Amino acid sequence: MQIFQDPYQIQQELRALKCAGKRIGLIPTMGNLHRGHLSLFKLARKHCDVLVGSIFVNPMQFGANEDLDKYPRTLTNDVKKLQSIKVDYLFTPTNEIIYPLGTKINTSVEVNRLTKRLCGESRPQHFKGVATVVNILFNILMPDVVVFGKKDYQQYLILSAMVKDLFLPIEIIAGEIIREDNGLAMSSRNKFLTEQEKDKAAALRQIISDCGNEICSGNKNFMQLKKQAIASLKEQSFKVDYFDICNAINLEDATANDKQILIACAAWMGQPRLLDNLEITLN
Ligand code: AMP
Repeated sequence: MQIFQDPYQIQQELRALKCAGKRIGLIPTMGNLHRGHLSLFKLARKHCDVLVGSIFVNPMQFGANEDLDKYPRTLTNDVKKLQSIKVDYLFTPTNEIIYPLGTKINTSVEVNRLTKRLCGESRPQHFKGVATVVNILFNILMPDVVVFGKKDYQQYLILSAMVKDLFLPIEIIAGEIIREDNGLAMSSRNKFLTEQEKDKAAALRQIISDCGNEICSGNKNFMQLKKQAIASLKEQSFKVDYFDICNAINLEDATANDKQILIACAAWMGQPRLLDNLEITLN
């Protein structure tokens, strides 16, 4: 695996490969890689000739009181993991490379729909930071195909919308959520959970899936289901950011006629804010 910090050098390499007819696949990450990330690389491998990863903890997507400084940075281990699955290129830029003007960025990218609800409500600048950095990475690395994880389902929808709206010549593929043995969705932030909290955090998946079973068996009283789920989460010592039952395409509140539904939740267990979701298709 070749590792580049310099955007122009990696771009030159990838441009030559593209000119030779190779299809470039990209997985953007913030590092501290786990099996969830690696599953995206393995999926991308089936859709491309040259597999590229990026590791960049993007300051623009963190709010003032969020965990930017504490975010786990484990580059040496990450490199070993990517080498073991035969990733071809890794791009690891610095803040100065991506944001030469620091916080006084000249250009940003804002997706107007899909960004206001769910995570967008408590993290109002977050998706602007994500859309901007992903655009920068796309422009440097020129991928033909990009895989995002459904663990961040809203992010996947927003970035798919961005690619469509801006006519970016990129295919977006979604990877399924990879979980710990107890059902907890894998996340770089899980390392902030104590062993006891990790056990308790498994309830998040269970409560979402109980709610999903209710909906599948015909219960459309979404307000009531939401209230019930929030109460159960609190009982299990979660601090709830949101628990929503929405239309999986536009993220508006689900209605009785919706066939594709997303149950999405963000909740703190101790220090970390955990995300999980479940897609449901009704007949
Ligand atoms: P991050 O490093 O958290 O920015 O995540 C990079 C990519 O990995 C995003 O597309 C995430 O949705 C995806 N991802 C993170 N955790 C998981 C997981 N448990 N299963 C599948 N994809 C994941």
